[in-house]
Amino acid sequence: MQIATIAALVAVVLILLRLMTEQWLAWLNRQHVQQHATAVPEAFRGIIDEETYNKSVRYTLAKSRFGQVEEVYGTIVLLVVLFSGVLPWAFQFFQQTFGQSAWAMAAFLFSVMIALSLPGMPFDWYSQFRLEQRFGFNTTSQKTWWLDRLKGLLLGIVLGVPLLALILKIVEWTGAWWWLWAWGALFAFQMLMLVLAPVLILPLFNKFTPLPEGGLRDRLLSLARRTEFRAQSIQVMDGSKRSRHSNAFFTGFGGFRKIVLFDTLIQQLSEPELEAVLAHEIGHYKKKHIPKMLVFSAITSLIGFYAVAVLARQDWFYRAFGFEPGNIAPALLLFALLSGVITFWFSPLAHWWSRKHEYEADAFAAKVMNEPRSLIGALRKLNEKNLSNLTPHPLYSGFYYSHPAMLEREQALAQQPV
Ligand SMILES: [Zn+2]
Repeated sequence: MQIATIAALVAVVLILLRLMTEQWLAWLNRQHVQQHATAVPEAFRGIIDEETYNKSVRYTLAKSRFGQVEEVYGTIVLLVVLFSGVLPWAFQFFQQTFGQSAWAMAAFLFSVMIALSLPGMPFDWYSQFRLEQRFGFNTTSQKTWWLDRLKGLLLGIVLGVPLLALILKIVEWTGAWWWLWAWGALFAFQMLMLVLAPVLILPLFNKFTPLPEGGLRDRLLSLARRTEFRAQSIQVMDGSKRSRHSNAFFTGFGGFRKIVLFDTLIQQLSEPELEAVLAHEIGHYKKKHIPKMLVFSAITSLIGFYAVAVLARQDWFYRAFGFEPGNIAPALLLFALLSGVITFWFSPLAHWWSRKHEYEADAFAAKVMNEPRSLIGALRKLNEKNLSNLTPHPLYSGFYYSHPAMLEREQALAQQPV
């Protein structure tokens, strides 16, 4: 057997292995949820009423079944795209029509990625307007939903195509070490986006208004002072435009830093609870979680670029998927389509690390609040309002959860010395 054939077979096996693991974990989680579905579990009695608990079970099961169908469908689409010959055909078409310039190849990569996002769109639509709607979360109008997609597409054309063209130019300019230069360019672009996105991109999707003067604002500003957290302003974002789910975050750097609260969060929580949530966010900042994550993602993308550089030198990598060796663009495309089957197995590690950060931020919040009760109260309400799964299977939450399950967080908080 030729190496190219073996490589194609390995790709199929890896794709199917990921799908089977996803399906098995989803099944395991549903079994676990159903076993606890008959009555509100001991730990949650008096915290959550039976009706809300039942609703959270139904929401979890509905989302899980939907997710399973989506995964099977996505895998079939991926296999068809990889092995039907449609990609080499599209590549030929672009080369013959627009030539081999970096811009033509960037347009090829961008067009294919857009075309590949289309099969998933009905699922996104169904998820928002059927599933989320059924459980009372959806507040998005059809107009907003379609406009969001259009804006995303335009942003991709304005930002994504030039970035791709730059990376392809770097391949031409720098030779064997292109992957290091390309990585540097991507990293610089990401840094620039961290600064520009809050100012230029977020306002395209949401409205931000300063938190009005009053008790809440005074309370939050006093917390920021107490923790020596410099912030330019506290903004309220109209999250309710799309969903009843709620959140808080901060954007920008140094003197430009802004604290952002979803309007839905302000509606759902009391003032001390909001203060505790902000203290948690400040905790992420004080514990340097953001630079740590940046370094982690920079290392990951460096490994990624190096892997493409190595693969792009192997003829079998091209031939396995019907391409002729020689041009870097198909190698970049194949890597983008296939890297997920490898990174999937590392996601539990990344999620474990993220959960560790959540515990640290929780501990920080309890310390500056001098009590863990406000944060516990906020977490309880958020879990209730978001109909979170209160009884995930440990293997499932270990694999997928970026935040610890509510009970784990509450137990850790209750043990905090304050
Ligand atoms: Zn957090």
